[in-house]
Amino acid sequence: MSLFIDGERHEPTGPETIDLIDPATGNVARANVPLAGPEDVERAVKSARSAQREWGRATPGERAAVLHRLADLVEENLEELAQAESREVGKPIRMSRESDLPMVVDVARFFAGEARHLEGAASGEYVPGYTSWIRRDPVGVVAGIAPWNFPLLMAAWKAFAPLAAGNAVVLKPSEMTPGTTLRLAELAIEAGLPAGLLNVVTGTGRTAGHALASHSDVAVVSFTGSTAGGREVMRAASGHNTRVLMELGGKAPFVVFDDADLDAAIQGAVAGTITNAGQDCAAATRAYVHESRIDEFVDGVAAILSTIRMGDPLDPATEMGPLVSAKQFASVQYAVDRARADGATVVTGGGRAPGLPERANFFQPTLITGAAQDSQLVQTEIFGPVLAVLPFSTDDEAIALANDTAYGLVASAWTTDFTRAMRASREINAGCVWINDHLPLASEMPQGGVGASGFGKDMSKYSLDEYTVVRHVMADITGSASKEWHRTLFDAR
Ligand code: NAD
Repeated sequence: MSLFIDGERHEPTGPETIDLIDPATGNVARANVPLAGPEDVERAVKSARSAQREWGRATPGERAAVLHRLADLVEENLEELAQAESREVGKPIRMSRESDLPMVVDVARFFAGEARHLEGAASGEYVPGYTSWIRRDPVGVVAGIAPWNFPLLMAAWKAFAPLAAGNAVVLKPSEMTPGTTLRLAELAIEAGLPAGLLNVVTGTGRTAGHALASHSDVAVVSFTGSTAGGREVMRAASGHNTRVLMELGGKAPFVVFDDADLDAAIQGAVAGTITNAGQDCAAATRAYVHESRIDEFVDGVAAILSTIRMGDPLDPATEMGPLVSAKQFASVQYAVDRARADGATVVTGGGRAPGLPERANFFQPTLITGAAQDSQLVQTEIFGPVLAVLPFSTDDEAIALANDTAYGLVASAWTTDFTRAMRASREINAGCVWINDHLPLASEMPQGGVGASGFGKDMSKYSLDEYTVVRHVMADITGSASKEWHRTLFDAR
């Protein structure tokens, strides 16, 4: 039953099916799972549209109470959800249990609070004889289209902000990882969310995703995924002038200045490379290290990467899991082989991890030196545990190299010099710049990029701008039939 519409699970009517594969073994976990087709999307949007009318009129306090209860329920069911998430994506249980799930709970609690803060900025007499004020109203139905790398966290980003603002949501998780999003929708009902406000359609991008993005009753399409997928969604949404929010790919630079605490930078680079087996839009992918420290940095990072424990995602000792699919494995292997062919050096890793199931998708943590700045390895998103390390000699050069890709999602700068840190944070063109760390998030702070990484914000109060419409109301306060401005049109009679 891979649809959740109007508060219940349903079987899709579309003809497409998928075999869900366990990434850690390569075995089929569930065969022939039916996928949503356009008719299923139609039902989901219709149900959302009708449920939204009441919800849009609920008080902020009522909406907040539901989100608080949902946060509590996710917390109560944390272990079940963490295990399901780890099984489907192949991510280590310690990450699901101690990072992804607690963040989902925090995002729900944050937006429960924000639901009660929605404000219009002005109220007053701007023209004599009139009072103007601002209303901030829900947009209606939001389509959330999410990737497979953080299924539950992305569902939380895509659903909780719009729900807090009084909208209904139709979520489309990746067809490869639907399980926990469907479970979240069930918990939302248990938390008291009226049926129809959070519907889930699991299907492919080409079919269900396209049907959602091009639907005339969808007011906002909130997309997280690849830059190429985002372009297709924008094209589909343009048919009805539908608003879009685009959280797209990344190619994060990691800049290590000569005064950096090298031990911290080395550990940060390891974390930034192996997180979710590198399948993270914010992963550290291009380390630019001052030429005076690069050998020390490469040796330090390679030494740790070569000892990362890979294995069963459900084993708490596992530090890095497999890639999500055989297709993802092939694409990462291709990128590494091409870098080798282009003359780069693979210092550690570079292929299938030995001693693990052959049919699974375990790719070794990989460090590469000697790649050219304009090579594919440095310019395109690989989405695997692969770090390229390149030298620089001046601060100007480091910042120019960091800015030299089409992307601009996140970046980090490593330095003990305050002025350098300030300059890097100002001049590196990315939605988020970390100083002396890479990856931590806060629900209060916005996530979203520039350039090929997209536009618009998830999380934080800024995301509510995406899911509300600001409206002006202007009321006559004179009670006079003849308005002063009418003289510009006709003489008083
Ligand atoms: P993807 O673009 O292949 O798919 C993402 C989602 O969009 C899936 O649900 C997919 O079915 C759907 N989709 C794909 N094509 C579509 C179309 N034409 N119409 C409608 N829907 C469509 O991306 P992915 O491989 O699932 O995820 C990895 C990508 O996500 C990476 O590029 C990563 O950087 C990005 N990502 C970005 C962020 C961020 O915050 N910016 C966060 C996580 C992941």
